[in-house]
Amino acid sequence: MYDNHISPVRCSICDLGYAPADAGDRRRHATYHARVDKLVVRLGRWPSGYSERERQKAEGDQLLRSGADLAEKFRGAEMVLTALYDREVLLRLQRKRPGRLPDFAKFLRTLNPEDLEAHVGKEVACHVRRQYGL
Ligand SMILES: [Zn+2]
Repeated sequence: MYDNHISPVRCSICDLGYAPADAGDRRRHATYHARVDKLVVRLGRWPSGYSERERQKAEGDQLLRSGADLAEKFRGAEMVLTALYDREVLLRLQRKRPGRLPDFAKFLRTLNPEDLEAHVGKEVACHVRRQYGL
């Protein structure tokens, strides 16, 4: 996993930059890398990075605005909310936010009702609450 280069490298798996020649940096990377591995197993997928999340939110908003039926709008809501969840997940992973990683439904429960409606609209928010038992 490590090369003994002097110059910093970026891990192609966890995307962390670190200096392989520095023992502290190597440990920091190993710890972070292990957290990423666990998260991927838990989610069954990679959490989306910034630009992918922005794309998902735009596509989700589009479906929320002009989806043909409630099912399509609900799919749009899930895209928007998953993007918000992935942001939360990555902030916790990077220890920029304290606390344990919530699962998706638990995360939805932390959104206040006004915020949920602001993200997905009143009609779809009702459906989301029913679906996830909020
Ligand atoms: Zn790594």
